[in-house]
Parts: sequence; structure tokens; C-alpha cells
Amino acid sequence: MIPFLDLNRVNAPYLDAIEAASLRVIRSGWYILGRELEAFENNFAAYCGADHCVGVANGLDAITLILKAMEFQPGDEVIVPANTYIASVLPLSYLNLKPVFVEPDWATMLLDPKLVEAHITPATKAIVTVDLYGRSCEMDPIIALAEKYKLKIITDAAQAHGTTYHGKKVGSISHATAFSFYPTKNLGALGDAGAVTTSDSELATKIRYLRNYGSQQRYKNEYQGVNSRLDEIQAAILNVKLPFLDKENNRRREIADRYLREIKLTELILPPADRVNEDSWHLFVVRHPRRAALIEYLDGKSIQTNVHYPLPIHKQRAYQSINHLSLPLTERIHEQVISLPLNPVLSEEEITYIMDTINQFDL
Ligand SMILES: *Cc1c(COP(=O)(O)O)cnc(C)c1O
Repeated sequence: MIPFLDLNRVNAPYLDAIEAASLRVIRSGWYILGRELEAFENNFAAYCGADHCVGVANGLDAITLILKAMEFQPGDEVIVPANTYIASVLPLSYLNLKPVFVEPDWATMLLDPKLVEAHITPATKAIVTVDLYGRSCEMDPIIALAEKYKLKIITDAAQAHGTTYHGKKVGSISHATAFSFYPTKNLGALGDAGAVTTSDSELATKIRYLRNYGSQQRYKNEYQGVNSRLDEIQAAILNVKLPFLDKENNRRREIADRYLREIKLTELILPPADRVNEDSWHLFVVRHPRRAALIEYLDGKSIQTNVHYPLPIHKQRAYQSINHLSLPLTERIHEQVISLPLNPVLSEEEITYIMDTINQFDL
């Protein structure tokens, strides 16, 4: 079986260094908010080309704390892509902000900038862009709208470590960017972890308070914060893996390039090939009108696939009050998407086998 993603194989090259780094933390007697985190924050800010990085407990909290620090008021509207993972939207609900869903561009499956302006009202305060599957949104038109209407841009880059847009690293483009280091992400910890990058010093400072009960000085609380810290062991592990992120992303790009050139199946829609080297290819998402049959066929040939995602947010039980919304492009995408295995440890033989097998579907 070619697994969709085998974390043992992904982490194998780093295991000795990860064990040494973890042991160093274990023996240091200092486990929360220490040197490892400080080093990681400096390293990741520099990697992204942002002035600041603030480590938090996970990607969901990274988005939540950005929105909280921006002090939007209950009822304020925030534009979000309708085609995304639920974690992009839940933070709005926690803070009583109103998500305004915008349909994706059919080719990229990302927020369609052409549709955004029609959804802006006097209550709109921000646009959340999601660099879903590892590809950056088309940011220039979104930045122009944000300037015109005085909106903040927040990017959910949980799937886009190392992605660039016109040569600029994701994490340095929006007012604030949220990252997740969940184990399956392009830069993955061995547990939960997340971070915010921003070049707004005031915002960074505020999020530093908020992640630690609203406090930076023991027992002195400036804000009603939360407990959302990136612990020292995870930070140490991320410090081990970060220097290899570009190399791993480049390997993903090579694989994506082969898939884009060599998969040839009628009715199968491939992702756009125009920015193959800017995309970090967290997922390689294709579409097929007979998804179930293709998945079953690949499974029978020992190729494990995945679906990101099977049910849109506005059709989830958790969002019952908006189940009536009609977002046809988003719904069609959720019916047709299949994620093929794409990760830095796939061998050339496996890649060739995956492509040959797909190309023979229905023959
Ligand atoms: C993984 C992910 C998140 C959430 O990250 P966690 O660290 O699991 O909280 C948010 N948005 C997107 C698009 C993701 O893929």
C-alpha cells in the first residue's frame, strides 16, 4: 500500500536530532516560554520575512488570537472563502463575528478576488484569505480592496509554510498570518503547535500577552487572555526541522511538476500549473466527476487517497443556522475533490506507479 502520508517515514531523517533536542529540553528543567521558543520565533520570523513571530498552541488559536487582538466588535462582518477547512471560520464564531462566505475561483479553488467587493458592506472589517492546499491566494486585488475599504487582511497559512506570492513569502504579505504546525503540515511538530507572523509590532505584543492569560509579567494581567503557548519541546523539534523546509518543499514541487505533466486522464481536472514553484504543495488536489469510483479503483491498486474536504462548512450540522445557503461552486468542489499522495518521502517508483495507475482508470 502507498499510504497517503506516513509520518514515521516523514520524520525518520530527523529522528536522531529530534531525540537529542527533546532530551536537552527535558533535562533543562524549563518547559514553557523559554529559549527554544524564543529561538524558533526568531528563526520563523526570519524565514517568512516578517518582523515578528509569536508561537501559540495551534493554528486555530493563531487565527483566534489575531482576530481578538484586532478588537473587532460582535456583529462585525469578516469575508472568508466558502471553500476551506472549518478551522478558518470557527474563530469568527467564537468572537461573535459574522462570516460572509465568498465562492472560490473554479480553477484555483481559492477565494475569488473578483467576487469580494460585492460582499463588502459598512460592517465589513476584515478579509480572511486561506492559502488552501499550499497555494497563495491572488493577493494584489485583495490588498487593493483592503486599502480602498480600510480592511485588515488575515491569512490562514496553515497549509502554506514556504509558499510564495510574486516572490514574497507567505507570512510577510498580510497584516497577520496564522500558521499551524500540526504533525501532517509541511512543517510539522510532534504534537500541536502554531504561530502568528506579523510586521505590526503592537499587534505582536498584544498576541504575546493574550497567549499567556493577558500577562507578560507574572500576576499582572493587561488583557483577558487565554492559555495558548507553544511548549519548549515542540519548539525545539521545530528548530530541528525548519532548516529543511525549503528542501522538502522543493521535492514536493518536483513531484507536483511530474504529476502535472504526466497525469493524463479525460475528465480529471488537475490543479493549475502556472505557479508550480511558488506553491508549497501541501496537498495535490484533483477533481473527477466520478470521485467514488476513482477512489475505490485506486484503493484496489493499493494507492491511498484522501478528500479535503467532503462536506462544506455551510452544510455542517455545527453550522445548522446557515445550512440553507447556496454556494454551488463550493458544493461542487466538495463533491469532486480527491487528494493524491504527495509528500517529500515518495520515491520515483511510487510516483510513476501512481501516475500510470491513474492514467489507466476506465480503460
Ligand atoms: C490545519 C489547519 C488549521 C488548524 O490548525 P490546527 O493546528 O490543527 O489548529 C487551520 N486552517 C487550515 C486551512 C488548516 O489546514
